[in-house]
Amino acid sequence: MLKIRNLAVARDQKTIISNFSLEVAPGSTHFLMGPNGSGKSTFAYTIMGHPAYEVISGTMSYKDSDLRALSVDKRAQSGIFLAFQQPIEIPGVMVSGFLKEAYQAIHKSPISAKEFMGILHDALDLLGMDYAFASRSLNESFSGGEKKRLELLQMLVLKPQLAILDEIDSGLDVDALKLIARVLDILRHQNPHFAVVCITHYHRLLTYVRPDYVHIIKSGAIVASSNADLARTIEAEGYDAF
Ligand code: ADP
Ligand code: MG
Repeated sequence: MLKIRNLAVARDQKTIISNFSLEVAPGSTHFLMGPNGSGKSTFAYTIMGHPAYEVISGTMSYKDSDLRALSVDKRAQSGIFLAFQQPIEIPGVMVSGFLKEAYQAIHKSPISAKEFMGILHDALDLLGMDYAFASRSLNESFSGGEKKRLELLQMLVLKPQLAILDEIDSGLDVDALKLIARVLDILRHQNPHFAVVCITHYHRLLTYVRPDYVHIIKSGAIVASSNADLARTIEAEGYDAF
């Protein structure tokens, strides 16, 4: 589904990622782990097409087409989704309106308010969230946990095929961690090809989400790839072991 070969990425002329290779097969679950400043968010932004991140060399393909040739909106339409590490507050933009616009943009067709409310309320029900949440301004005065829940809500409504979750678990309590696992299970159940890359610092997400592969990133390159045992090694020995 996603094939990255020898990727090098710069921001403001500074190379942040280099020699980065990763393959994500349909239906697979990956953890990308690494110390602060190792380039995890840079990877996430580059896949989504953030204009500040410049691909210097290497190749990125998604479903056998060149990802670099696709604009951000086309990447979203083709099923790629990024949950932000630090979601942005947009006062005056209502959650429900934002999600409806995003839904329509991705499906390239309008949907009636009534039909969309049905979809939104189903998703809120699955997350155990109050319908009033949908009437609030995007992330404005949200708690850390509410911001992460909104990223999960977006994912449930937009049903991506490839999700990159940038530290979705940071600052979450156990119930919210279970919610991440639940949302991933639902998406996988709806679409067996659904693939996810969970960027995380924490071993504890492993209790709830089982990765097929764990990758360690250090100084912008993947230095080790293995199964869930690798995450346990990091928990025991830290990143210095790599
Ligand atoms: P992570 O998500 O793993 O914590 P990031 O991808 O956010 O790491 O950042 C990787 C590195 O890139 C960090 O060392 C950061 O300081 C550096 N970096 C980010 N933006 C810039 C910039 N505009 N100019 C120079 N260095 C940057
Ligand atoms: Mg980051």
